[in-house]
Order: sequence, then structure tokens, then C-alpha cells
Amino acid sequence: MAKMKALICRECGKEYPTEALHVCELCFGPLEVKYNYDEIREAMSRASIEAGPKSLWRYKELLPIEGGPTIGLHAGMTPLVHAKNLGAFLGLDELYIKNDCVNQPTLSFKDRVVAVALTRARELGYETAACASTGNLANSVAAHAAQAGMQCYVFIPGDLEAAKVLGNLIYRPKVVEIEGNYDDVNRLCSEIAGERRWAFVNVNIRPYYAEGSKTLAFEVVEQLGWRAPDQVVVPMASGSLLTKIWKGLNEFQKIGLLKDVSTKVNGAQAEGCSPIATAYKDGRDFFKPVKPNTIAKSLAIGNPADGYYALKTVAESQGAMDAVTDDEVIEGIKLLAQTEGIFAETAGGVTIGTLRKLVKQGAIKKHDVTVAYITGNGLKTQEAVVDSVGRPFRIPPSLVKFEQTFGQQGAA
Ligand SMILES: *Cc1c(COP(=O)(O)O)cnc(C)c1O
Ligand SMILES: [Zn+2]
Repeated sequence: MAKMKALICRECGKEYPTEALHVCELCFGPLEVKYNYDEIREAMSRASIEAGPKSLWRYKELLPIEGGPTIGLHAGMTPLVHAKNLGAFLGLDELYIKNDCVNQPTLSFKDRVVAVALTRARELGYETAACASTGNLANSVAAHAAQAGMQCYVFIPGDLEAAKVLGNLIYRPKVVEIEGNYDDVNRLCSEIAGERRWAFVNVNIRPYYAEGSKTLAFEVVEQLGWRAPDQVVVPMASGSLLTKIWKGLNEFQKIGLLKDVSTKVNGAQAEGCSPIATAYKDGRDFFKPVKPNTIAKSLAIGNPADGYYALKTVAESQGAMDAVTDDEVIEGIKLLAQTEGIFAETAGGVTIGTLRKLVKQGAIKKHDVTVAYITGNGLKTQEAVVDSVGRPFRIPPSLVKFEQTFGQQGAA
């Protein structure tokens, strides 16, 4: 019997076959993957996981594929760093950084979701990969499609960072830059998905794609020595990653790999695009769409598909949300780099800035085992910090000049 049982509507519970479907035809609710947990409990143990590949595929029983993995074999199992310096600075005893800056092959957490989505898309017979992206997703789809020999179309907003544009072109997909923001891109892609038989990883393949994010929960539990953290801080664009970290933790509990889960799930956004965090702070269970205006472009979704569920998750787990200014994003990037030697992109700055606020507010406490999710690489968003890191000391190749600049040895 297959471990993946059906797709199920998150609103009315109607079940569908495990095909390229994403909305309920009765109530327009989003579909998600339903598993046979009794069977998974039999198939998965700590020992079997530990004996698995050093990639996210060690958790394949809880991922929505029928055969073995075929695309994205090296995604996942990124370092969990005990951030002693940053922890000391913030007053936290046990702070960990989940470092997806170094995910393979395109240096963001999107390599997880794309590995799962395209492996499933191949199983469903698709030959063309596509996506609506805020940047990182397009890079990952383009790279994986090149490796897999699939046709590829990536759709991006017109204002992306140079490295994220180049990080598509190098793989030679069709790069379609839309004169508009991500929400415009997404709307167009939904229309195209109705016309072409393409695997739009975050449109018609979305239920499978989103499951890849659960591995950010699974790995953290395993890397903490099979315990769930007390607090997690998660950056939010559509809100999908946040909801799936919660789903992943609860699945581990369901199949007996964790005793109980009392993790508080906290959400982070940039003030220039914070529909979800603003709803949380206003005490609403629904968000109002906004027009994004922030340097955190990877999170710039004004009408977040999973915003409603992210609010529900945070309420259920008794976590919190907050948002930070662009200056605080830059501060966060620099703080993480200068304490832990990790250069994150703007989304990482959002996470660290928000973590800082939550500690200050007392929502996260000194003894809490806290994991901050750092989801993308700083070399892709250099524009954000180039004006706030100073310049090199430029001198001729002369010892005299060097000593004039830095003083005699022992003097400085
Ligand atoms: C896509 C992305 C996220 C979060 O995406 P969701 O849509 O909320 O799942 C977080 N960080 C980075 C760097 C991303 O590219
Ligand atoms: Zn429904």
C-alpha cells in the first residue's frame, strides 16, 4: 500500500487522487497530501533514518513520492549550528542556526521543495518544469531542470537582485521577467498553468512541493538529538514553510519519533511586506493583501497563499509574529555574519531581526532551545548590504605603507 494515500481538502476534507491538483472543486480550499501514518510508523525508526542517505531523502517515507528520489539527490542535511556567540549577545543559552545558506545546489531552502516537487512531477509524467518565483525558487527550478534534462520556464518579478537573475540565466531556462511584482507573476502563472501541461512547482504541483519544507523540521529534531525545539523563528513569504515545519514536528510525534511537541512557532516578515505579521499583531485571523516595498525581496508576497494557515499555526502553537524595518534587516545580516560567520540573504536578516525583537519582548526566554531558520545565501542579495559594510584598505604593495596604515607591530 502506498504511504501517500490521497490529496485532501484542508477546508472540507474531500479527498482526491494524488495527481497534479491543488484546489478543491467543491469549496476552492487548498489540497494537501494525506499519508497512511500506521504504515509509516512501521517503516520508519530513528535507526532507519540514521542509516539513510545524508540528504532530505532519509525521510522519504514522509515525502509525497511513490518510487525513489530521482531529482535533487543532494538537498538537505544542512548544518545546525550552535550559535554560542549570537546566543550570548542576545541572552540565549541554547540558540541554533539552521543554515540553509549552503543547501545544494542553489544555496537556499528552495532546493528542498524543488527536489520533492520535480521528483513527483517526473512520476506524473511532466517534461516541463516551471514556477512563479520571488527569486530563489526560480534558481532552484532552473538548476534542477538542467540536471534532469527537463524543459524549463521561470517567471520572476521585474526588480530582482542581479545574482538571482544571473542565477537563472546560467542554466539557460526561458527566464520570463514580468513587469510587475510577485503577485502579478503568480496570477499570470495560474492562468498559464490552465493552458499548458507544465509542472508549475508552486501552482499545480504545490501540494507536493510544500511537503519538502517539512524536512526543515525533521532535520532539526534529529540534529538536536531527537528532541523538538522550544521555539522556532521562521521567515514567511507565502507562509507555507512555517505551516510545514509545524506539520513536520507533529508527524514525528504521530509516528512515535517524538514524545510530545510543545514547540512555539514564530513568524518573521519585513515591515515593507508584512500582511501576515500585521494581522497577528492586530489580533485578526485573516490578512489584508499589501503592495510589497522592502529589500527582503525573497519574502515579498503581498497576497500570501498560506497566510491564513500561518496565522492558525502560530495561534495553535502559542507562538508569535513580528516584522522588522529594512534597516533592521541589514543589522540582522551583519550581526549573524559578525558573530557566527554566516552570510545570509535578506530573509535571514528578517529572521535574526525578528528573533531579536521576540527576545526583547520576553516571548523567547534565556533557557528556551531556540532554532532560527536561515533560508538563503547573502551572496545573492549583495545590493542590500553593499553600502553598509565599508571598503577595503587600499594600499600599494609596500611594507612602509602597510605600517603607516596599521601601525608598528605591538602598537595596535
Ligand atoms: C521562499 C523563501 C522563504 C519562505 O517561503 P514560503 O513561501 O513562506 O514558504 C523563506 N526564505 C527564503 C530565502 C525564500 O526564498
Ligand atoms: Zn473543499
